[in-house]
Amino acid sequence: MLKRLRLGAAWRNIASLVQWRLRKRRVDKHLLFYDLFSAVQQPGCPLCRLVADAGARRLAYLFHEEVNDPPTRLRLRASLGFCPRHARQSAHPGNALGLAIIYKDLAERALERLQSRDRSLFQQGCPECEEEQRDEERFTQALAISLLEPELQSAYLKGDGLCMPHLQLVGRWAPPESWRFLQRAEQERLHRLAEELGEFIRKNDYRFKDEPMGSERNVWLRALCKLSGLQHKEGDAL
Ligand SMILES: [Zn+2]
Ligand SMILES: [Zn+2]
Repeated sequence: MLKRLRLGAAWRNIASLVQWRLRKRRVDKHLLFYDLFSAVQQPGCPLCRLVADAGARRLAYLFHEEVNDPPTRLRLRASLGFCPRHARQSAHPGNALGLAIIYKDLAERALERLQSRDRSLFQQGCPECEEEQRDEERFTQALAISLLEPELQSAYLKGDGLCMPHLQLVGRWAPPESWRFLQRAEQERLHRLAEELGEFIRKNDYRFKDEPMGSERNVWLRALCKLSGLQHKEGDAL
């Protein structure tokens, strides 16, 4: 009898855990949908933006809360800190003390490894690059599925669309209907881009150089961003 009661309680616990997980997944999907909905309407590739924003938030959190967090420090020891790109992102005067604490430890670890026989200084890759890859997968899959929603499709048409590397990545996950939508939208954008590039080239011909430049003035930069995934915000140095 006691055994049956215990079994019943265990099943109730499992059922409520499953319900809680399902509820949480619905809320997560919902939150992600609104992140996507906002990102697709802003300038530049929405996935580049979401991944970059998540990375910036994670680095800010690391320097605010995790400088003395043992798992974080152990992970940084394995990679001897950040890759050059993430080192550049963290190199901010506000992070000076955190960087000094972390990198004093890393310099000492590098010194130890240099004295060992196996000549292996790095044990793992940059932790921020690993996190970034996970974020990219999460956002890519969510966008591929969410583009089935007409609400997100019309928002997507208001922005600049995906860069080509991210379009290829979304293509791996997109159901046929999402992919057909993306093909149509991006064919249209690439067609316009090629026309504007043609116009820019034409106006650089000495015979037409007196014609004022229109929106094609910066099309070479937009083409570079669209095709390569380069992120460039207005006002950034070239
Ligand atoms: Zn992108
Ligand atoms: Zn990195």
